[in-house]
Amino acid sequence: MNDTGLALPASMRVFERGWLSSNNVLFIGRDDTALVDSGYLTHAPQTLALVDHALGGRTLDRIINTHLHSDHCGGNAALQARYGCSTAIPAAEAAKVAAWDEEALSYRATGQQCARFGFNTTLQHGDSLMLGDLEWQALGAPGHDPHSLIFYCPSERILISADALWRNGFGVIFPELEGESGFAEARATLALIDTLDVDLVIPGHGAPFTDVKAALGRALSRLDYMAADPVRNAENAVKVMLKFLLLERQQFALDSLPAMFEANPVIEGARRRFLKRSADELAEWAVQSLVRAGAARREGGLLLNGEL
Ligand SMILES: [Zn+2]
Repeated sequence: MNDTGLALPASMRVFERGWLSSNNVLFIGRDDTALVDSGYLTHAPQTLALVDHALGGRTLDRIINTHLHSDHCGGNAALQARYGCSTAIPAAEAAKVAAWDEEALSYRATGQQCARFGFNTTLQHGDSLMLGDLEWQALGAPGHDPHSLIFYCPSERILISADALWRNGFGVIFPELEGESGFAEARATLALIDTLDVDLVIPGHGAPFTDVKAALGRALSRLDYMAADPVRNAENAVKVMLKFLLLERQQFALDSLPAMFEANPVIEGARRRFLKRSADELAEWAVQSLVRAGAARREGGLLLNGEL
């Protein structure tokens, strides 16, 4: 059972993680084991411990990534080293991973870390795959990330929704920050999810939930709000990036923030393209926003991570 009250199929385990690491879904089938998404690099030892414990002496055969943001594939390298498991990634990312192009893979742009990993196969929209002796469909879910996949199991009516749909919203619409289309794709992805018969959603972050129609309604109204004024998406991105940095490092000197913002290509791009304020002003605004939300606190000259 999970805290939704719905029993998961016996071959499935969900590891709900904090926000620095995405959730992980472990499948233990008769002949094969697989993990969907592997968390953030600095949590890799915890990921290994969770997986190892749940496998009860079996090996991990496969990793499957919904998308390649650092909080979803940061444990890949450690898992590969431990188990020699094969790895499947979205097909559109294959060349970038093969060349380990940190620029194209977003790690440099976000200032986030990811240990280099390899892959063996790719997945794309329309593929079907067996996970935990159940048949799943890979569906393209652009918006938050242009190449993200989500996984749907028709027989169990379960959706692994990654960052395309959370209980309250969805992940930052990153393409829009670079002047590319993302709102329209996110809308189409929500419309696609609306066509599926779903009893249980396992999101990339937060607890699994059951009322998919209500979540879709909240996501659509949030998307309308963002799309009506892209500054809102840019402001949200800056807050999310700052919170991620705080989760990763726990604290930093307040007076180092403007320079950190300028050195972070995603934040700097959002600032120049949409936010039209100085790095000092933006840093102060972001700090105030997080403090007001209880997500950070000031102490002396430091900004400290706060529990949400
Ligand atoms: Zn993501």
